[in-house]
Amino acid sequence: MESSLVKDNPLLLPLNSEKTIYDGFVTVQERDFRMRIFLPPDRQLKWAKLHCSWQLKHLLHGYEPIVKQRLQQSADLVSFLLELKTVLEVGLKSRPECSSIPPPQYYSQLISEMETIGWDKLLSIDTEFRTLRLKAQDFSGRQHILTIKLQSKHPEEAPECSADLPVPLVVTWTPQSTLEQLHNQFLQVLESLTEFWDILDEIDSKTWILEPEKPSRSDTMRRITIGNNVSIKVEVDPRHPKMLPECCLLGAEHVVTPLRNKLNANMHLWNPDSSVLHNLQDVLEIEFPSPATHEKSAFSVECGICYSYRLDAAIPDQVCNNPRCGQPFHQACLLEWLRALPSSRQSFSIVFGECPYCSKPVTVKMSTHKS
Ligand code: ZN
Ligand code: ZN
Repeated sequence: MESSLVKDNPLLLPLNSEKTIYDGFVTVQERDFRMRIFLPPDRQLKWAKLHCSWQLKHLLHGYEPIVKQRLQQSADLVSFLLELKTVLEVGLKSRPECSSIPPPQYYSQLISEMETIGWDKLLSIDTEFRTLRLKAQDFSGRQHILTIKLQSKHPEEAPECSADLPVPLVVTWTPQSTLEQLHNQFLQVLESLTEFWDILDEIDSKTWILEPEKPSRSDTMRRITIGNNVSIKVEVDPRHPKMLPECCLLGAEHVVTPLRNKLNANMHLWNPDSSVLHNLQDVLEIEFPSPATHEKSAFSVECGICYSYRLDAAIPDQVCNNPRCGQPFHQACLLEWLRALPSSRQSFSIVFGECPYCSKPVTVKMSTHKS
């Protein structure tokens, strides 16, 4: 009997020479459950006492009468343990949440790895100890957050990592990789993006940004105020942040056309050693209005139809081209207005009509473009 007991349950060992106390683990579906078995001196099973770990207790909850019955009926410890494992297998199947509780090593590993990184880096951890948010600082002192979802059931698989970045976060992972290595890889990614964020931070602090309303670290686009109802939309390449960005001028034609001409004529002046903000000002031959020189309200002129500035996320980006008018409208508002007028006409996706303010011709595209 002893030999098959050891063979079936190699982690369960007698604690005394009388072999009345066994301690260790029973293994079911590759998971080990701690238990201790006390037998009376005559080693009769029906008087045996079981001490179970909390996980095992939780798993056997509701099956206690069956376990008792098996203790009464089993011929010896080997056959009882076999019966117990069958009960546990049924229990694991009916309680999938139990089978997903990671083994204790998972937690001790996690804690020792956190000690290596430093607890001050831990922003939060969920109650299941699976999703960690770690702090990281880039070279310019900006704070970033790395979210790591650990594959607690399959620790050898790569965890899911995410962060607020303008590029996909790619990390290399081997089963031997540690959290510290992930954190270090993240710091390297941050380092590679430092210049990109420096450039955008300069734009954000020295100009009036119309869009996005609250830029995140992953936003590569900025719509910068040039003047009343005139703005430039720039798309900065996170990989080559100092290169000439994609630019789009927005506003009334009579203001935008000369700026566009300057942009085209002066493009060769773009200096990759200088910042995007300075280059833009040099190429366009302008100074952007900044929080130091202007109030933002001077540039957030509301729509001439609905009298609000933001409509959902949109700002009034349609401007009457009459230099004496220049009234801005939301695209949706102007479209609705023009379509309600019998004098308006439509050609393909463009609606032609009259400005509600100055009655000069205005046009609006029907496609709901994304700003
Ligand atoms: Zn409107
Ligand atoms: Zn007008």
